[in-house]
Amino acid sequence: MLGQMMMRPLSIIEILRYASDCHPGGEIVSVRTEGDTHREAYSEAYARAAQLAHGLARLGIQKGDRVATLAWNGYRHFELYYAVSGMGAVCHTINPRLSGEQMGYIINHAADSVLCVDLTFVPIIEALHPHLPKGLKLVVMTDRAHMPDSDLDLICFEELLSGEATNYDWPELPEETAAALCYTSGTTGHPKGALFSHRSTVLHALTVSIALKDGLKEGARILPVVPMFHVNAWGLPYAAPLVGASLVMPGAKLDGASLFDLMEDERVTSAWGVPTIWQGLQVEIKKRGRNPAGFEQVVVGGSAAPASMIEAFEKSGASVCHAWGMTEMSPIGTQGLLSEPMRALPQDEQLRLKAKQGRRVFGVDLKIVDPDGNVLPHDGLSSGELFVRGNNVVSGYFRNDDATAAALDKDGWFGTGDMATIDEHGFVTIQDRAKDLIKSGGEWISSIDLENIVIASPKVANCAVIAVPHPKWGERPLLVVVPEEGETPALEELHEMLLEHVAKWQLPDDMVFVDALPLTATGKVSKLTLRDQLRDHKLP
Ligand code: ADP
Repeated sequence: MLGQMMMRPLSIIEILRYASDCHPGGEIVSVRTEGDTHREAYSEAYARAAQLAHGLARLGIQKGDRVATLAWNGYRHFELYYAVSGMGAVCHTINPRLSGEQMGYIINHAADSVLCVDLTFVPIIEALHPHLPKGLKLVVMTDRAHMPDSDLDLICFEELLSGEATNYDWPELPEETAAALCYTSGTTGHPKGALFSHRSTVLHALTVSIALKDGLKEGARILPVVPMFHVNAWGLPYAAPLVGASLVMPGAKLDGASLFDLMEDERVTSAWGVPTIWQGLQVEIKKRGRNPAGFEQVVVGGSAAPASMIEAFEKSGASVCHAWGMTEMSPIGTQGLLSEPMRALPQDEQLRLKAKQGRRVFGVDLKIVDPDGNVLPHDGLSSGELFVRGNNVVSGYFRNDDATAAALDKDGWFGTGDMATIDEHGFVTIQDRAKDLIKSGGEWISSIDLENIVIASPKVANCAVIAVPHPKWGERPLLVVVPEEGETPALEELHEMLLEHVAKWQLPDDMVFVDALPLTATGKVSKLTLRDQLRDHKLP
């Protein structure tokens, strides 16, 4: 027997219509590429999304077409998210840190019809233009006064909106309709597209709003440092208007001092981003001897947050929520807010739990399996590859059957490529990406574990541990260190620190100093590049 309730399709534009009606106090504050700060209420964003939809329709955009963006976090990018999906088209966010070759590949693979770019990225498009699809229309996200000189045929974003009606007859779409497309940077092979639907996006926004309710609530002021070109800024452009939180969009300046000033000026309560970004902010907090006023919470994910970073934030008065996920999961899969009884535990016990990646969010199922596919117990010790299933998880990759087949197991679960344990309370610990683990004499060494310990040394600014080939053991760990200015940490003293937590055979065999670690397009340390660079390193 079926229930007798109305069936209204879940729809992204409904989030903004709701915010416009019910959260009059919510706003989007944007540091613009033009150099100033811009503010608009959600009701204004809703009206401008309608104008933008009319403008895009004038450019020929129809249901199912892909409209690409190459842009920082800002209100125009936000308006594109809603206008494009609201029309039934697909908003394809492109990561500007990809190589020209990768960018060209994905624009052609997605067969984008329109590409909207921030001023900063016009030179990238000029260079790439010969490799872009014929007929691709280019829109620069600025007003007439700031339009750049260019040989390309460029459309001005504000002129596209100008004079258009501020209401739009948003079509009623089946909720499975594609809404957004994001390619993972992909460490091997071509980037692969995750194609989100209205349904998955709205459910993800609801899930995240419930799971991260500590910081994501009406009146909160959220800083997404995580870019809108990377998995929809972890869903914040949807979740924040849904709950009535304001968004503070940082634009292009993401260094510690700029972030500190913006957070202070805009009374940011909760800031979301990857550990590399928070390292910069922590340096600034140390320099100024205090937190930005009003700062309550930091959400950190994308790669493992070192325990020392979590401790420093907590000591400074900002609570930390460590989250894990991936593009293919919309992206949030687990989050580390402690349960009520856990908040009564001694401080060091709480810190130990916060360094884990947290518990699954509603709607996401987790399993860890051994290489034969046997499901392992949640005992905090058994380690296996993490598989996921849920409404927010991809069922395949966009126009890529081979990658789809490789990603799913026989029961349709998605293999994350991460090695993890899950404890009896459901807390996940990500030990490594499967390919970053070091296999020494048949035993595994977690590079994340070693990095977390070494980074706590005051002489170390940043570090990474990679596997290098070894004639006897197969692989051995090599420590790569960016020393703090004026410091030269000795391997022996780092070994001493490590020996408090790991076995002797897990110690790195050698150490090299570098000025900086290579980063991927999503701001994570690129172990692949490091392994390539240090492939021939001779261990002692
Ligand atoms: P990309 O694959 O483009 O780097 P994703 O954001 O999709 O971007 O990366 C997902 C991967 O990032 C996960 O599979 C995992 O390896 C890593 N990751 C994400 N969050 C964490 C975390 N909190 N701790 C450890 N690793 C993480």
